[in-house]
Amino acid sequence: MAHASAADRVLTAVDAAADEVVAFTSELIRIPTVNPPGDAYEECAHMIGDRLAACGFEVEYHAAEGLPEHTPAHPRVNVVGLRRGRSLRPAVHLNGHFDVVPAGAGWTVDPFGGAVQDGRIYGRGACDMKAGIAAAVYAAEAIRRAGVDLTGSIEISGTVDEESGGFAGVAWLARQGRLSSTRQDFVIIPEPLNVDRICIGHRGVYWFDVTTHGRIGHGSMPFLGVSAIEHMGIILEKIRHELLPALASRTTAVPVAPDGARHATLNINGIMGGQPVDGIQTPCVADRCRAVFDRRFLLEEGFDATRAEIRALLDRAAAETAHLACDLRDLMVVHPVRTPEGSPLVASLERGIQRVLGRKARQIASPGTYDHKHVDRIAGIPNCVAYGPGILDLAHQPDEWCGVDDLVNATKVLALSILELTESI
Ligand SMILES: [Zn+2]
Repeated sequence: MAHASAADRVLTAVDAAADEVVAFTSELIRIPTVNPPGDAYEECAHMIGDRLAACGFEVEYHAAEGLPEHTPAHPRVNVVGLRRGRSLRPAVHLNGHFDVVPAGAGWTVDPFGGAVQDGRIYGRGACDMKAGIAAAVYAAEAIRRAGVDLTGSIEISGTVDEESGGFAGVAWLARQGRLSSTRQDFVIIPEPLNVDRICIGHRGVYWFDVTTHGRIGHGSMPFLGVSAIEHMGIILEKIRHELLPALASRTTAVPVAPDGARHATLNINGIMGGQPVDGIQTPCVADRCRAVFDRRFLLEEGFDATRAEIRALLDRAAAETAHLACDLRDLMVVHPVRTPEGSPLVASLERGIQRVLGRKARQIASPGTYDHKHVDRIAGIPNCVAYGPGILDLAHQPDEWCGVDDLVNATKVLALSILELTESI
């Protein structure tokens, strides 16, 4: 193996840097980059940028100028570092979002303390995904400390707003051309998906709302009105009895985890009808009811059929029920993505996992979505995966933590993968 000695030196360098990668994760956790609203982004971008600069990267900041969520109170600032090899290509880009969801209730430790106890780093964002950012930085740094000269280049970005769709973050960098198939060959997103699993994509998302329109009337004589709430109830019953069993019967060939998410699913995000329940009540038949739905669709279903199925269900409800009138409105569509079969990126991570962990890697796909969609759809880079430290089920939970072992092992796997990929074209 041409890289055997380089790989050995890099693995040794990761072990030697273990305390630093843990400390950097804790430092990142101590900046409460809570989204919403998007607190302390600029501070966190600069902390990452300063560390990248110290590790030999050229550092740029990209604020999402012109987007409504980029405000003086909550600036949307992304950071990108580039460390050139002997040439720019192949270019491996590691991207981590530094926003975290609110802490919520139920914590037994300070969610923004970054405490290290019994081999675990605790805090909001510990696994999702400040440990991943630290792993990316120290994978690159271990290569430098091992004195390995790369043919291609390494980029590391810290981006905002993944938890709210990534539009001012990865999507922004892609729209500006900073992330593009003309610049990068491979993108790794170190999200927490368990340290022996490589995530090759995600299901599709279709958010829509349905509004039923009734006719207002006196509440003492409801037969003289048309209740929009009752009609929404009819639609919900049809969803329960007709749509949900059909969705549960469909299984994707993409290895979505957990098993329940290998099927098509639908969630009702919210519903509102009639008069506000906390307000003063008047005797009125509800003339309007609105519900928002979250439909996760499979690669095999595709968006057009997914939407048509909803439309057909609403049409049936209207045909079967006197005076039932409703609208369907699209709120958001995310198409499913899947890393191409035979991707050298997946193969290199599989080899790294085998070497570092001594077991075979598993491929999974995410039940939700993450920034992969923007890398694939806007930047046009098909060779993208998520691989990083931390346990998926702990993301967004109280007492979120990342194991120090996971963090060090993922850093090693990433470093080995970078070594291979920067030579690979
Ligand atoms: Zn995440």
